[in-house]
Amino acid sequence: MKRTSRDIRTANRYQVLRQIIAASPTSRQELAAATGLSLATVATLVGELLDLGLITEVGFEDSAGGRPRGLVAVDAAGGALIGVDLAETYVRVELFDLALNVLARAEESMRPGDSRPEQVVGHVATAVGSVVAQAGVEGARVLGVGVSVPGQVDRDTGVSEYAPNWDWHDVPLLDLLTGHIAYPLYLDNPLRACAVAELWFGAARGCGDAVVVNLGTGVGAGLVLGGGVHRGVSNSAGEWGHTTLVLDGRPCHCGNHGCVETYTGAPGIMLNLRELCPDSPLLCPGDQTATIDALARGVGAGDPEAVAVLRHTARYLGAGVADLVNLFNPEVVVLSSWVAAAFGEPLLAEVRAAVARHALRRPLAATRIVLSPIPTDPVCLGAATFALEGALQSAGKGARTRTAGGRR
Ligand SMILES: [Zn+2]
Repeated sequence: MKRTSRDIRTANRYQVLRQIIAASPTSRQELAAATGLSLATVATLVGELLDLGLITEVGFEDSAGGRPRGLVAVDAAGGALIGVDLAETYVRVELFDLALNVLARAEESMRPGDSRPEQVVGHVATAVGSVVAQAGVEGARVLGVGVSVPGQVDRDTGVSEYAPNWDWHDVPLLDLLTGHIAYPLYLDNPLRACAVAELWFGAARGCGDAVVVNLGTGVGAGLVLGGGVHRGVSNSAGEWGHTTLVLDGRPCHCGNHGCVETYTGAPGIMLNLRELCPDSPLLCPGDQTATIDALARGVGAGDPEAVAVLRHTARYLGAGVADLVNLFNPEVVVLSSWVAAAFGEPLLAEVRAAVARHALRRPLAATRIVLSPIPTDPVCLGAATFALEGALQSAGKGARTRTAGGRR
């Protein structure tokens, strides 16, 4: 991958803002120490962030005997970011301030027949309008809207190339959304959203190499390599959910058999339950969310059927995660998304044990396996971060008047 000087500058800008968000207020000296960048570079980048209105000067701190150091902090009211988690069964939209606090939230549920692109776009537009109204922010202060859509995405053209659960092929999603939403739009998929959320705000902050395992209806791995999100040559890296775990195994909607997803995604876990305990009262036919919730409650209550399903699922998951550990030698593997959040610590303990049975000793010893510490929807947070990154990229292309004009 060619890295231009502008890419490096953008990456440095991300790093400095990430550190300011993590440790506001802070001085340029502290930022230089924390990021490893020179004081001169930090001073330039801080100047750009001040010009963009993303951060603000907040006074001075005494440095023992030396000149007082100027302090900067993120300017929470300097703009608003919107994250859209477009999932198979719902649209969730959250509006954030620049400290990435959630100011407003809206959700629309989608029935199985609701998945025509025009219908989905309608749901997104309604929910975006709702959060802006709820938060009472001026339109000019909205820096952008990040949209996460499952499946294969061309983020440059804004096309959803393939969304298997809706059978979408080459849907020009960004163009359709532009007809309804006036803010800058950024499109990518949940793997990238979860990876970006962990990199900026979660368990991968400060990590060079991390894997964010996304456990939802679909399954995949967001990859952080060399301190940045790894996208691959056509933005489809991380489709670990469609790597083969069982030869001639369960059929997958991707056309293959025995994919990781067919044993560890929510529908796969329902199938694990059905196979192990066909008459289980935990099974809510046709409702994966309710079944996962019932299983998670059952595990908490020590229900032997629920515990058996969790262990069985964790065996598959552990074998797949061990492959990720062996392939990428990451500092951290983060279990993210709603299925991981529903099961929580019991899943983590079983996965750790299963990974230890399969992974090579050297990479395993260097890897922490953790649950995502992000308390809100990581896909919404990551999608909003796409918009933040977009605003930061534009900093290199001259001052953005709409950003400055949007400040109070
Ligand atoms: Zn597959």
